[in-house]
Amino acid sequence: MVILDSEGLVLDANERLESLFGYPRDQLLGKSAELLVSGLFRAANAPPDPSQTRPNTGSFAELYGLRRDGTQFPAEISVSQIRRSGESLTIAAIRDGTTRQKVDEKFRRLLEAAPDAMVIIDQAGHIQLVNAQVEALFGYSKQELVGQPVEVLIPQRYHSIHPGHRTNYFLQPRTRPMGAGGLALFGLRKDGTEFPAEILLSPLESEAGTLAITAVRDVTDRKRAEEERSRLFQAEEAIRVRDDFLSIASHELKTPLTTLQMQAESAIRVSIRQSNHPMGPALIRKLEDMFAAIRRLSSLIDQLLDLSRLTAGKLSLQKERLDLSATTAEVLRQFRDEVERTGCNVRLLAETPVWGFWDPFRIEQIITNLISNAIKYGQGTPIEVMVTEVADGRARLSVRDHGIGIASEHRDRIFERFERLVSSRQYGGLGLGLWIVRQIVEAHHGSITVWSQPGAGSIFTVDLPLEASEQPSLKPQPAAKGALIMLVDDDPMIRNTFCEVVQDEGFNVVAASNGRDALRLLQSGTRPQLIFLDLMMPEMDGWEFRAEQQKLPELRHTPVIVVSAADGVDKIADTLGVAGYLKKPIQLDSLFRLIDRYCVAQAKGQEHERSAPGTLAN
Ligand code: ADP
Repeated sequence: MVILDSEGLVLDANERLESLFGYPRDQLLGKSAELLVSGLFRAANAPPDPSQTRPNTGSFAELYGLRRDGTQFPAEISVSQIRRSGESLTIAAIRDGTTRQKVDEKFRRLLEAAPDAMVIIDQAGHIQLVNAQVEALFGYSKQELVGQPVEVLIPQRYHSIHPGHRTNYFLQPRTRPMGAGGLALFGLRKDGTEFPAEILLSPLESEAGTLAITAVRDVTDRKRAEEERSRLFQAEEAIRVRDDFLSIASHELKTPLTTLQMQAESAIRVSIRQSNHPMGPALIRKLEDMFAAIRRLSSLIDQLLDLSRLTAGKLSLQKERLDLSATTAEVLRQFRDEVERTGCNVRLLAETPVWGFWDPFRIEQIITNLISNAIKYGQGTPIEVMVTEVADGRARLSVRDHGIGIASEHRDRIFERFERLVSSRQYGGLGLGLWIVRQIVEAHHGSITVWSQPGAGSIFTVDLPLEASEQPSLKPQPAAKGALIMLVDDDPMIRNTFCEVVQDEGFNVVAASNGRDALRLLQSGTRPQLIFLDLMMPEMDGWEFRAEQQKLPELRHTPVIVVSAADGVDKIADTLGVAGYLKKPIQLDSLFRLIDRYCVAQAKGQEHERSAPGTLAN
């Protein structure tokens, strides 16, 4: 502490001043204060600054103390004026500010290094300090901001409430986010634009009292991402609702349509049978047209059903041994009328059977979709369908038309949902067929490709592995329990054991000792879901039974498994056109796998859903 008289000469000094400056007290008395701090007296007696809260006192920056040994130090000086015996005296407290300056420097550097824009304000709401991030975020320079009310950084609409919030903050200053009550916060840039902000407040103790550090973060990107996520969620929800609706609507539509289809078909049959009351060719043609329209409607509904089923990832394949050539030929037969109507010439090249392990209903769907597209977009030009076995154990189906073709840039797009390259006024369709085909092909671990040239036509090629990599589950599903199974075998021991084992697993069994007995049972109304058939039997053997079964429309579709110890039983099964075979001695795993495959499908009611367009017409 040093006391100066009205001339600025030292009146007194304390011991600490002696040690700080290195002068003994008596050497200082009567000397000018300039000896200690240049400019001290001038600064202490300058006219009061109106912005200073306490005009009689003051602290001065950028004054330096000068020690006796010639060294300097940044001086922190607080002065106050007193009057004694009519004279005005100046009392100055002088502190070595070296350490504090270092700390301040560190603080500033820390402030600059902070990732957020930091604005330090005093209790009156004036900006004291800002970092470079503030300049970048708000577009003001530091000089423009320091000393300004913080409201310059806040949109006008908050100006009336902000001072109240600030006062509250300084009453209980602690680190907390601003806008805790859910208030949306915004920053105002120099150019007048706003941005959504996240603001964290922290108190900072300083000589000038408590200040507030305000860390401001621009959350435009995060808000945008949040909005994006919420939009996505809503879109997904809308898709789910749509798919649910499609699923319900198509199920509802399917039921009356099936009745309509059966009635139309039955009307045609009755009219043909009742030769004494013929319907007349004109009426039959009308009915046939009606029937074709129903089939078309039915196939559109099937596509919608598949859309929701496949989107939900519910494509379950019911694989069995299948000849792709025969299946293709059968599907082509179903297109007979349409082919005739459009006048396109369809040629099938499928000389040899191509056996594989696939889901028959789904394979039919692939063929149906490709052929109906070829007819639709082929515009009456010839169509070639080819089935072959190619390298690497793969079957190949290709469908070629010479119609409108597809531009190369659209070739991938057509396999997506609802993607259509044509106007719906010109060509009907939902844009789902090829998407469904691709899903089925991929579920079979196969591939689909297209070659095409606009105006020259297209070739769609499907490759399918002949063998499935995965096996159906070994255990029968509970849903199959209670299903009725028939065994036709002349060996009483096999019959007894079979019945016992199969009943133990919860199925019902009916056994017959030869083909004739089995036929009698079936004709009297016994309806098994699956028939196991021995080949060599007295009275009526397996071959004869199979021939008789084929003659009975209501039994023709009951799946039959040939059971035999004979070599080449697989070949025999092929020639009999049955669903499969079991080699004696019977492996229980294989037996239950077959029951599982055929009985589950029927017990779950899938036959109904699977009534492919045209099945009833065959
Ligand atoms: P849809 O035929 O119901 O529109 P698809 O999924 O079967 O739906 O086909 C998608 C689109 O691919 C069709 O709208 C059509 O533009 C194009 N496309 C499909 N097959 C052929 C083809 N054989 N020739 C030319 N374009 C085709």
